[in-house]
Amino acid sequence: LADEHDAPLLPPEWGGPQDPDLVALRRRLHRSPELSNQEEGTAAVIAEFLEPLEPSRLYRSVGGHGLVAIYEGRSPGLTLLLRADLDALPIAESLELRHGSELPGVSHKCGHDGHMTILAGVAQLLHASPPPTGRVVLLFQPAEETGEGAARVIADPIFKTLEPDRAFALHNLPGFPLGSVVLREGTFASASRGLIIRLNGATSHAAEPARGRSPALAVAALINELSALPQLCTRLEQVAQATVIHARLGERAFGTSPGQATVMATLRAHDEAVIDTLALRAEERAAATAMAHDLELELEWTEVFPPTVNAPAAVATVTAAAARLGLELSRPAGPFAWSEDFGRLASRFSGALVGLGAGLEHPALHSPGYDFPEPLIEVGRRLLYGIIEQSLGIV
Ligand SMILES: [Zn+2]
Ligand SMILES: [Zn+2]
Repeated sequence: LADEHDAPLLPPEWGGPQDPDLVALRRRLHRSPELSNQEEGTAAVIAEFLEPLEPSRLYRSVGGHGLVAIYEGRSPGLTLLLRADLDALPIAESLELRHGSELPGVSHKCGHDGHMTILAGVAQLLHASPPPTGRVVLLFQPAEETGEGAARVIADPIFKTLEPDRAFALHNLPGFPLGSVVLREGTFASASRGLIIRLNGATSHAAEPARGRSPALAVAALINELSALPQLCTRLEQVAQATVIHARLGERAFGTSPGQATVMATLRAHDEAVIDTLALRAEERAAATAMAHDLELELEWTEVFPPTVNAPAAVATVTAAAARLGLELSRPAGPFAWSEDFGRLASRFSGALVGLGAGLEHPALHSPGYDFPEPLIEVGRRLLYGIIEQSLGIV
């Protein structure tokens, strides 16, 4: 069992204990995880932590349960946005931890408890040394995992008045050395979209299937056709995936020929143009299949993530900040296959998503055995503060 009050030591190169308030905050957040769009308690805990750190302004309920803390400089200058994410996942924790999740079936398995803590740690540093020029906007964003939060924050009237010049966010990444900085220009994380296909026919007695309109054969056809889409609409050098993730047909009633079905798929690509084509072809195949089987069709898109594309200037800022701190830099050869809601903020405000290595052997994100590695709290807040210094010309 990890001991509650004994803050872990940093890796040797960081030579010293971590801030006990931040470690306590991280564990408090870990114990009380909240799913996307339910992060009310999480936002309240963060607000309570931030209040004594006297931000120039603190806005609640931004784009849902989002929180925005602003530190104003003495003279005008650039507006920097730093983002953390509030939500946990519908995954049961398999670890025995003293700070373990107290909500069955829900836990922080993406490390957003750590990301929030890092950003709260940046608020401590900004409270101690406010920016001389410009301003720093700390955004605690809701609903990252469902791809809804960033768009809602951008549309919020409070946020619209801020007009950031640059945006940065960190995400911890298992599989890379602890505390290393993972960075690349251009596409960093992939685009993805969820497609829900509903087929409506008519039930009949199972003894007389010809009197109804069963979607069974249409479901079988669509599972095949969606799975085959990537190779039919991409060139060799393009990357695309279509994964059928769920299918449901009728009821479990042996006397009934089914009348309804649902098929769900996740589409994924490195590039917005490729996923646009993939989505269009998926809609065409669904329409043609529904028509061929005399079924009514309903299509719904959900969890739509744009690709996260890092601006070269923002990457240069992070590279300089990491070098000053002596952090190891890794440059992955290609984009990551997963998606991040930060893509919406990065493309709008010319920003960068930065990976922070969580350890080569650390359990994967979204796996039941994952827990945020606490040495990253200190590394993360120093890196983000370094990005502020670099961007606002303090160094
Ligand atoms: Zn996640
Ligand atoms: Zn995440």
